[in-house]
Amino acid sequence: ATTPVKKLVNQVYDNFRMIHPDFHFSLDDDLDEDVLVPVYRDHLEQILIILCDNAVKYSNERKEIHLSLSRNLRAVEIGVQDFGEGISQEDLHRVFDRFYRVDKARSRKKGGNGLGLAIAKRLVEGYHGTVTVESQLGSGSLFRITLPIVEPGDEKEAKNKESGK
Ligand code: ATP
Repeated sequence: ATTPVKKLVNQVYDNFRMIHPDFHFSLDDDLDEDVLVPVYRDHLEQILIILCDNAVKYSNERKEIHLSLSRNLRAVEIGVQDFGEGISQEDLHRVFDRFYRVDKARSRKKGGNGLGLAIAKRLVEGYHGTVTVESQLGSGSLFRITLPIVEPGDEKEAKNKESGK
């Protein structure tokens, strides 16, 4: 399965703008329409929803979320940035663990099980991508995922490999 990443990111972006009219969303999109990633559409959508939901949930007063979309030679990078509560350096390496939540008491009010990021990471890595986070307590977080790009001809090669050609 392949997914046109620009189209999907724009759909998620439009949906979040509609669902959260009190937020200011921006999208820095520097990608061609025809860039494909070898990921099921629903999986990519799920990954983006998890990151955008968290950005909204942990935004606090500054209701601003910035998405970015760019590529290098072999990979697409999608960034989801908020300017909210942030994550301390001690907690940062644990946010992708299953059931890990930074502040048990405060987070509980916001709902959730601490599973979202673990699921996102597992999905991304299952597609040979990466997910990273940079954050500072009190000033916000930037999650970045990278996914390999399907080059024209890749799909045919993959099929040939399967059938032993
Ligand atoms: P859910 O299972 O519904 O996603 P959750 O948000 O608690 O619930 P994760 O998405 O796995 O679970 O996130 C784990 C923890 O990482 C959160 O509880 C929160 O403490 C922290 N976290 C995640 N995203 C952000 C963010 N953008 N800003 C600050 N903290 C975050």
